[in-house]
Amino acid sequence: ARPIIAIVGRPNVGKSTIFNRMIGDRLAIVEDRPGVTRDRLYGIGEWLDKEYSVIDTGGIELDGDNEILRSMRVQAELAIEEADVIVFMVDAKAGITPADEEVAQLLFRSNKPVVLAVNKVDNFKRQDEIYEFYSLGFGDPIPISGSHGIGIGDLLEACAVHF
Ligand code: GDP
Ligand code: MG
Repeated sequence: ARPIIAIVGRPNVGKSTIFNRMIGDRLAIVEDRPGVTRDRLYGIGEWLDKEYSVIDTGGIELDGDNEILRSMRVQAELAIEEADVIVFMVDAKAGITPADEEVAQLLFRSNKPVVLAVNKVDNFKRQDEIYEFYSLGFGDPIPISGSHGIGIGDLLEACAVHF
């Protein structure tokens, strides 16, 4: 079976953008589930001749008021359940937010490997913006840029260690 990478993070960090970078032009499938407006987006990617599946867990939207936190919890639970590797995505422009800390708490409880990806590092001058993310406790943050396609290979390499 293909190893499964799940992308987890608060809304707007760039999960869907990176998901699309990771699957190239491979088709993604939307799956519905009771109580969930839009479930997971699955895609298939390939890196160094090895295929992997990737899940954009950010597709999960629960109905109701102020459901962002609960949605993130459901995302993290699904990722922890299904993934071989979890990509925890944060945003270099925003820095660490309370919602990121919530996600970190949820991921700490899993015994799945977590790769910390710092998105929106759009140019080399921004490299030093990754350092604050060490404090999340998931080791070396990997700088990436979804909009510029930077660091995707490094991210996949870090994931592939756990395949
Ligand atoms: P999601 O909610 O985590 O799935 O985030 P999206 O992929 O929808 O992206 C949220 C916003 O961030 C969009 O406006 C994207 O265009 C923008 N974005 C995504 N990746 C990057 C990036 O690498 N750099 C910058 N500057 N913006 C980005
Ligand atoms: Mg999204």
